[in-house]
Amino acid sequence: MAAVVMDGKTLAAKIKEQVRRQVEKMERKPGMAMVLVGEDPAAQVYEAGKRRDCQQCGIYYETYRLPEDVPQEELLDVIRFLNKREGIDGILIQFPLPDHLDDRAVQMAIRPDKDVDCVHPSNVGDLTLGMDCLWPCTPAGVMRLLAEYNIDPAFKNCTMVGRSNIVGKPQAMLLLRRDCTVTVCHTKTPDLAAECRRADILISAAGHTNLITADMIKEGAVVIDVAVNRDADGRLCGDVDFEAVSQKASCITPVPGGVGPVTRAILMENTLTAAVRHGK
Ligand code: NAP
Repeated sequence: MAAVVMDGKTLAAKIKEQVRRQVEKMERKPGMAMVLVGEDPAAQVYEAGKRRDCQQCGIYYETYRLPEDVPQEELLDVIRFLNKREGIDGILIQFPLPDHLDDRAVQMAIRPDKDVDCVHPSNVGDLTLGMDCLWPCTPAGVMRLLAEYNIDPAFKNCTMVGRSNIVGKPQAMLLLRRDCTVTVCHTKTPDLAAECRRADILISAAGHTNLITADMIKEGAVVIDVAVNRDADGRLCGDVDFEAVSQKASCITPVPGGVGPVTRAILMENTLTAAVRHGK
């Protein structure tokens, strides 16, 4: 039987509507600032999407566009300025940054209580320790999708393909917090297919089209495709061979329309949470 397709668009609309309703009641509206370095077309598309999301939710929004060759100190100055701005509750930096910039220094410059994508080491530490903190948007979006479809990670085996700081590692931490047993795979994993076949929940964030094929899936597994790639015809796709895998999985996310929209909605929710914590 074909898998249930997990509808990220509908869930995202629901989350954003909940945010909008709460924002509507607030005297001071939440504010978000996005910092973009360079002219990467994909980043421009993400930026436009975030602007639209903020408009839909009633969140004040600003973009800071800096040239590709911006000196590090200038970028840090913009972040320091935003840290001090009272109307700004969330600061989002579009990564990856050009090579001459130090990602770590930039992440550390963001005031932790305005770090709405959980990149500051103190927030990453809180996340790892199981403390209360804003969850990074993409892994939080995956958890929300699982919850929406009543998939409880407890007592299940999850294989996470990818160990990046923004997806794989925090995803593993969030799943551990929900009593899942997690295996994290990467390019040095000796037998990726075997690790995937053990998974009740398989999450892929490798960035390789058709990396995950049907023979790597346990019958009835939940398959979450985080990746955003382009196929040979230039169409958006994930890591998973969707057509074949959906014949074996119980639930599967599409690309586009799966994790991506929920990630964006969680950013709105995190900005609202930060604003509520900041108060008037
Ligand atoms: P990344 O930093 O490039 O990390 C990719 C990870 O996948 C690395 O840990 C890498 O292993 C692993 N990997 C790559 N090829 C593999 C293979 N053949 N077998 C096993 N592991 C492999 O990427 P990222 O920033 O985490 O993003 C991953 C994907 O998710 C991208 O397609 C990105 O566009 C997408 N993404 C989507 C969202 C969303 O909201 N939907 C958000 C963020 C990212 P090594 O560590 O050994 O190199």
